[in-house]
Amino acid sequence: MKEALLGKTPEELKAVAVSCGLKPFVGKQLAEWLYVHRARSFEDMTNISKAGREALAASWDIGVSEPVGCASSSDGTRKYLFATAAPAQDAGGLGAIEAVMIPEGERRTLCVSSQAGCKMGCRFCMTGRQGFHGNLSAAEILNQFLSVEESAELSNAVFMGMGEPLDNYEEVSRAITVLTAPWGFGWSPKRITLSTIGVIPKLKRFLDEHRCHLAVSLHNPFPEERLSMMPVQGAFPIGDVLDLVRRYDFSGQRRVSFEYTMFAGFNDDKRHADALIRLLRGLECRVNLIRFHKIPDFEYDTSSDAAMEAFRSRLENNGIICTIRASRGEDILAACGMLAGRHSQR
Ligand code: SF4
Repeated sequence: MKEALLGKTPEELKAVAVSCGLKPFVGKQLAEWLYVHRARSFEDMTNISKAGREALAASWDIGVSEPVGCASSSDGTRKYLFATAAPAQDAGGLGAIEAVMIPEGERRTLCVSSQAGCKMGCRFCMTGRQGFHGNLSAAEILNQFLSVEESAELSNAVFMGMGEPLDNYEEVSRAITVLTAPWGFGWSPKRITLSTIGVIPKLKRFLDEHRCHLAVSLHNPFPEERLSMMPVQGAFPIGDVLDLVRRYDFSGQRRVSFEYTMFAGFNDDKRHADALIRLLRGLECRVNLIRFHKIPDFEYDTSSDAAMEAFRSRLENNGIICTIRASRGEDILAACGMLAGRHSQR
């Protein structure tokens, strides 16, 4: 399989050009074709000589590929499936990853995947149940942006699809660099949010190296209870994650939020709200309460609307901005990992 050009920096593309017998300045032209003009074939790159395009095509791939499936929700949410080189063990063939486009007013947010499956084993997550099948390359991550139908209209991105982005930090970081560089897509980092369960060493690198927003999946303020749902708590306790987060400035351009999926009878009462308030004290942040999409063989249902409202009021009365996230795309199984899970089973 040929290596993809997508994800490479202009400096790296210069080396590619030279290795194909072309002048160094072709590297800059390649970056423009890939990231500004979003070329889908070498043929499109008309200011590179025909011989040059042929030499490039003989050794390299652009890295774009069309989705292999798409489902549209009645609320406008669209879920795309892409084939990935990482094999799905239960399908005996190519695995599939998902990208979900969520429209909201003028916004078009793309929820992107960073891995095929996931190693982290959170018990409430369908992606976690599928096991880990491989890391996506930066090209496979960027292809999600380039190959959805709404590509030209995308306004925001959340790394909140399949996988733990910080468990594939090098490729995710490379994709974010392309997204935010002036020679790349030129997006402001404020348009991007990375969501993590808190892989501390890579979280530190992310906070040092990028200016994007951060979302931390918290889900329970009590260590033992969190551990019962999220094995990561054993390696990187949420208290240590928060100690790290507190060392960075989230009062200006960059924001931190905490994701809190509501499970009836597990984490949705006054005791949990109060513990969460104590845990987040002094941090300028927002909490997003999320309705749980029920999955098979799992003991908890989502909390009632009344319990969610009461939880939100308690947080807001204590100075924490709190929103209840609207469910989107329920009719197309838009919760993380659900459609690709179905696809793999087929
Ligand atoms: Fe992985 Fe995120 Fe699912 Fe946990 S919730 S298993 S980190 S994809």
